Amino acid sequence: MTEHNDGRAQARSKELFAAACEVIPGGVNSPVRAFASVGGQPPFIRKATGCHVVTEDGAALIDYVGSWGPALLGHAHPEVVEAVIKAARDGLSFGAATAAEVDFAELICEFVPSLRGGMVRLVSSGTEATMSALRLARGYTGRNKIIKCAGGYHGHADMLLVAAGSGAATLNIPGSAGVPPDAVHDTLLVPYNNAEAVAELFAAHPGEIAAIIVEPVAGNMGCIPPLPGYLERLREITRREGAVLIFDEVMTGFRVAPGGAQERFGVTPDLTCLGKIVGGGMPVGAYGGPREIMSKIAPLGPVYQAGTLSGNPLSVAAGLETLRLIKRDKPHEALEAATLRLTKGLAERAAKHGIAWTDVAVGAMFGFFFVAGEVHDYEEAKRSDLDRFAAFHSEMLRRGVYLAPSQFEAGFVSTAHDDAAIEQTLAAADGAFEALA
Ligand code: PLP
Repeated sequence: MTEHNDGRAQARSKELFAAACEVIPGGVNSPVRAFASVGGQPPFIRKATGCHVVTEDGAALIDYVGSWGPALLGHAHPEVVEAVIKAARDGLSFGAATAAEVDFAELICEFVPSLRGGMVRLVSSGTEATMSALRLARGYTGRNKIIKCAGGYHGHADMLLVAAGSGAATLNIPGSAGVPPDAVHDTLLVPYNNAEAVAELFAAHPGEIAAIIVEPVAGNMGCIPPLPGYLERLREITRREGAVLIFDEVMTGFRVAPGGAQERFGVTPDLTCLGKIVGGGMPVGAYGGPREIMSKIAPLGPVYQAGTLSGNPLSVAAGLETLRLIKRDKPHEALEAATLRLTKGLAERAAKHGIAWTDVAVGAMFGFFFVAGEVHDYEEAKRSDLDRFAAFHSEMLRRGVYLAPSQFEAGFVSTAHDDAAIEQTLAAADGAFEALA
């Protein structure tokens, strides 16, 4: 067994972390990267290829973080890297329209069912995508209130930092300081997987609710799939109430199916938000929907949204090549099989060691909780044994497996996770469970 997480084995990462903490708050540029809830030392990553990240300490770790989702095709996919290098030679950014943006927008609209025949606007992050989609929904309906789920995370815009998941849940700051009460006054909360709570809010605020934004498969309170009929019911209610149904597919887009959760579950939202995979590892977000709604965006309409680097050639090159490869290679069946092999294998080993355990796999996305029985919402996710999660995380890291350092995150499988990588992960889990039991 290689020791990746203790003592001298992490000497260089420790040195770098100490230096980072002097100049970067918490030593990290996004709080989810800190090992706040699992303890120990975040490894510093020197490079990544395929399903491995290589640390500054020289360890090659099997990676299920995948840059928090974008790396569906594995790290540094040669064709994606080549496309970016080629684009870079022609100039990094023009702040003007390019032919590649048209190809990219067409391909995005071809993949995502609700965008067929519609339009898409590129931005530079998932946060911008959700923020802009909500502004558009408010501008389109002339209403102010929005609904989100407790434990749902849609980026760090003020109005969405209410009972937020992901790092905000990990650090126990689900409502951030610095957000004025007025900014969240119109944000209403419901539990995930509870459509009746949504219907009740519409009844309590008739004609006032512009939109509901939902992760169609929750991935920021751990991974929780939608109950049968949940998304369908949200569709019915929003249609009846004249409100906009927004699927935040920043995580699920191109991951749980080529056309995202809307394709997998056969429910069509009004607006779709994309991020992560759509950028192939470069900063890209996107939001789109039917012409009738999208034509309210400037310069066509009165809803303003802009971006200096939106649709920049490097990001577009990475995203376009990634989508072309998904279209060419059709990897989703194999991805799903690999993910199931992983979660089934983990469940078998947890059972063998008498560990209470629940796992979830949807396409190439997975999660697990240290609790027996199904988990349907954030309150239930919080029943997971967080100390056990922390111990498991560090035992896995010690054995060369890099999992997201929080219970309230999802895991991601890529096309580079071959049988050998999955078997190695399961062998590591066997040892980790044994250490926990
Ligand atoms: N929406 C979802 C579902 C996410 O998981 C995330 C990030 O993890 C975001 C939005 C925000 O995306 P970004 O971090 O690119 O701003």
